[in-house]
Amino acid sequence: MGLRIAINGAGIAGTALAFWLRRAGHEVLLVEQAPRPRTGGYIIDFWGIGYDIAERMGLIPAIRARGYRVQEVRLVDRAGRACGGFPVDAFVRVTHGRFTSVRRSDVAGVLFEALDPGVEKIFGDSIAAIEPAGERVRIAFDHAPPREVDLVVGADGLHSRVRTLAFDAEARFEVPLGYHVAAFEAEGYRPRDELVYVSHGIPGRQVSRFSMRGDRTLFLFVLRDEYLRATPLASDAERKAALAHAFQGAGWECPRILEALHRTEDLYFDRVSQIRMPRWSAGRVALAGDAAACVSFLAGEGTGLAIAEAYVLAGELLERAHDVPGALARYEERLLPFLRRKQAGAAKLASSFAPATAAGLAFRNAASRLMRIPSVAEWLLGRDLRDEVDLPGYSFP
Ligand SMILES: Cc1cc2nc3c(=O)[nH]c(=O)nc-3n(C[C@H](O)[C@H](O)[C@H](O)COP(=O)(O)OP(=O)(O)OC[C@H]3O[C@@H](n4cnc5c(N)ncnc54)[C@H](O)[C@@H]3O)c2cc1C
Repeated sequence: MGLRIAINGAGIAGTALAFWLRRAGHEVLLVEQAPRPRTGGYIIDFWGIGYDIAERMGLIPAIRARGYRVQEVRLVDRAGRACGGFPVDAFVRVTHGRFTSVRRSDVAGVLFEALDPGVEKIFGDSIAAIEPAGERVRIAFDHAPPREVDLVVGADGLHSRVRTLAFDAEARFEVPLGYHVAAFEAEGYRPRDELVYVSHGIPGRQVSRFSMRGDRTLFLFVLRDEYLRATPLASDAERKAALAHAFQGAGWECPRILEALHRTEDLYFDRVSQIRMPRWSAGRVALAGDAAACVSFLAGEGTGLAIAEAYVLAGELLERAHDVPGALARYEERLLPFLRRKQAGAAKLASSFAPATAAGLAFRNAASRLMRIPSVAEWLLGRDLRDEVDLPGYSFP
């Protein structure tokens, strides 16, 4: 008999976890606040342990079919002239070709489509209360009737509600890195530069675009918090106004990009933060993905790490189905120190995304050209892309 497990959040971690838990024969309930699987967001680099696990899930062909082999990162000035950047082939060499750039929502979609039909899904709802009940946990929802389960997993992202319910308020674990990020897509945008990631920076702010299939373009803004007006940023209208204010007069294609921003109905906008917790479980409640250990988008690997956490959590439960607290402790032991190191690396990188001063920006742009020297690129990437963790090989049925 498997366990009865409820997962809050059908993003990357929650869906990957549901996949593995179901494979191990557990009864899985996946609860998602949004009315349907969420779209939107940015393009992510997918490699490392996330890639390895997606391979074990048999999903690499589907992910690669939706992915892109980016050729070049090009930094441009106000007039659109190249002022830095590098070819991306070193990434491919360092990862032995086990690397693709793909929309976050496409990875989420592939994971979701791979779910066994036996996974029960509830959309448009959320776990709203958690109460210990002996060896089990009683959960209440915003809408659905309450249930009892053997384990609750919060895979509900950076602003996890399960974490707040079972551990403590977000502020206790959130480490803001001083930036905000926003992403959206538009159709028919011109110009296009196929397979080139084009970025324009001004002090404290950066905007990038990437041309995708279907005549779509993806835009990503990164900005230091001091460039956001101190108005509430609760609605999309307020967020768009704040971005327009921050990028007004920034040159390059900004007027056109801000026009496209004005029209979008699917804007991703959030603080760039890490979640640092001393423990990932409390009794029969555990956390996975950003809810447990958000590394922030600066690490470039949050999606792969979320998949890895899901796999190890499910694997430890497979090996210790009769000792849930022991499995949760082992999950933490295996991954928490590794995630700490990833977080430290990402925090160090933060300032290179949107240097605060004109001098810092000029230095960053010039330094980016060093990546054109194959030996330098391979040395730097070999250091940053390595995932120093042993992935156990669990015997999933
Ligand atoms: C639409 C979207 C776009 C994103 N775009 C970017 C981006 O541009 N840049 C970036 O750095 N990171 C982005 N992220 C975050 C990135 O996906 C994660 O860092 C990473 O993939 C880890 O995945 P996760 O599953 O832990 O969290 P997420 O991928 O964030 O998934 C969490 C899921 O939980 C759901 N959820 C949240 N609260 C509740 C609740 N109370 N009850 C039930 N469900 C809930 C969310 O709707 C979401 O589906 C985005 C996330 C989403 C949801």
